[in-house]
Amino acid sequence: MSTPETHGFQAEVAQILKLVVHSLYSNREIFLRELVSNASDAIDKLKFKAISDKSLLNDAVPGIRLIPNSDAKTLTLWDDGVGMTRDELVKNLGTIAHSGTQKFIEELSARGERPDAKLIGQFGVGFYSAFLVADRVEVTSRAAGSPEAWRWTSEAKDTFEIAEAELPSHGTQIVLHLKADATDYTNEWTIKDLVRRYSDFVSHPIELEQKDAEGEVHRERINEATALWTRAKSEITEEQYQDLYKHLTHDYDPALAHTHFTIEGTQMFTGVLYLPKRAPFDLYNRDHRRGVRLYVKRVFILDDCKDLVPEWLRFVRGIVDSDDLPLNVSRELLQDSRITRTIRKQVVKKSLDLLEELARDKADDYKTLWTTFGAVLKEGLHYEPEHKDRIAKLCRFASTRGEHVSLEEYVARMPEGQKAIYYITGESRRALEGSPFLEALVKRGYEVIFLTDTVDEWAVEGMREFDGKSLVSATASDLSIEATEEEKAKTEEKAGALSGLVGAFKAVLGDTVSDVQISARLTDSPVCLVVPEGGLSAHMERLLRAHDRESPKQKRVLEINPDHTLMARLRALHERDPGSADLVDFVETLYDQALITEGSPVTDPQRFAKRMTRLLEAAAA
Ligand code: ADP
Repeated sequence: MSTPETHGFQAEVAQILKLVVHSLYSNREIFLRELVSNASDAIDKLKFKAISDKSLLNDAVPGIRLIPNSDAKTLTLWDDGVGMTRDELVKNLGTIAHSGTQKFIEELSARGERPDAKLIGQFGVGFYSAFLVADRVEVTSRAAGSPEAWRWTSEAKDTFEIAEAELPSHGTQIVLHLKADATDYTNEWTIKDLVRRYSDFVSHPIELEQKDAEGEVHRERINEATALWTRAKSEITEEQYQDLYKHLTHDYDPALAHTHFTIEGTQMFTGVLYLPKRAPFDLYNRDHRRGVRLYVKRVFILDDCKDLVPEWLRFVRGIVDSDDLPLNVSRELLQDSRITRTIRKQVVKKSLDLLEELARDKADDYKTLWTTFGAVLKEGLHYEPEHKDRIAKLCRFASTRGEHVSLEEYVARMPEGQKAIYYITGESRRALEGSPFLEALVKRGYEVIFLTDTVDEWAVEGMREFDGKSLVSATASDLSIEATEEEKAKTEEKAGALSGLVGAFKAVLGDTVSDVQISARLTDSPVCLVVPEGGLSAHMERLLRAHDRESPKQKRVLEINPDHTLMARLRALHERDPGSADLVDFVETLYDQALITEGSPVTDPQRFAKRMTRLLEAAAA
């Protein structure tokens, strides 16, 4: 045999190891769940491989064994799963593959010596939790189909060793040399209790192996070893559902809600779906793990199967077990299979049911979910027209009258005469609250929804109407506000009186705007810019430009407030001196001011500053 080789851990692993040992100490019994979970996955993978290579499976049912030895102070975990090659041992146990790891560790470290255990859990510490109870860990593994076995050994410092080893058949054996204060994990009852509490959902047999006084080996099955979802709902406890969830997601927090269903008929499948409480740390990474785990007739096929869950439900986790898909199904085959489409449809329906149930029965939990995943769910308004109405009901918005307002609430408290649902889009609630566009609506007692997520413009476009009422932007040129006869007459009268001034505005602004009109919406502000019907909003235009997307420069309508004292003065000035140079300055300044209040930059900051200086000089004289 060759001499062992020493390898350094990837820097991130060394850091994670330190963080784990520091922060999860009081929770260290989770190591057993994590290691059994890995062993169960390894057997799943072996069975999957055996679909195309029958020689990998012998007659014995693959399983997991726990072998305590109180004299040697060790606990050994053995599985005859898929095993690991030498390279896999180095890669899987010496590096961390998740993208975004470095950033995550920096965030954790910024929180000091003992970051929140929940945050660590969110990352999924997996194998490294072995070092919570052991000061030395030996992993001996032989990959299925390979004659070689290798041993990985580490004492959780900065290095690990790799050496040749021997194993009679494929699988993995992990020997934990227990820390002095962790020897209780060789106790039969402690182990049984932990398996019952954390790993009863595991669908492979878990055996406890002990030697009696005569040195004879006894093996005892300590779990049920049937896939949790095949059992009757009434026989599954809340804890068991949550343990399956943790096994699937590595989430530290329990899921907010779950549903378990079986669809029968032309197609048969079972699903367990969960709504998580928090987003995984890499939710916004392109390659983040998502989707549900796919099984075919209880055999594990694929992790993170994206074809069964639409993008806009990418936070939903769980499993789907189909009786109809072929065992040798590939990702390509899944993509355009009719069976996949049927399953996806049901997954969407069941997820919406679950979301509605949570919104109805547990408003606070739903708030948590909405705050974390609302922006994702809203994409569905655009991508899933078929379920638009159900998704719209699940939406919650900030408005001039509150936070987390549902559209049903909004409609229920609409004052008489209000015909549409009003919204305004922008960067933040604060930026929108002072918008001149709210004035006329708020004066009438109309509530206005603040839309501040990037997806909102698309979402609203997809929604179009709710409960028979159209969604209208407060910045639209036609607000669908019903004016009384009296108001109409007044507006006309004002328009007549200001026609000369309006003409002067048009002459100064020329092509910059598509029109200049008398406003029916402004009360406090002198001017605002509105979007002509069918046009892009200012917010959308900025978003497109920020993404470097082609966006035709949109001309907007300048509305002027006929009741503002400034207009009366400008009108007098115009009548006195129609060619006034000051008037040109005033009009251009007002236009720039309208740009600023809608959140757009002024066209020519240099000119704007010079003009302002001139005006201030005159005013201060
Ligand atoms: P995760 O399970 O989140 O991927 P872990 O740190 O728990 O992270 O494990 C890293 C990898 O090591 C696993 O993805 C798997 O490929 C491999 N591994 C761990 N335990 C076993 C085992 N008992 N048999 C085979 N491979 C294993």
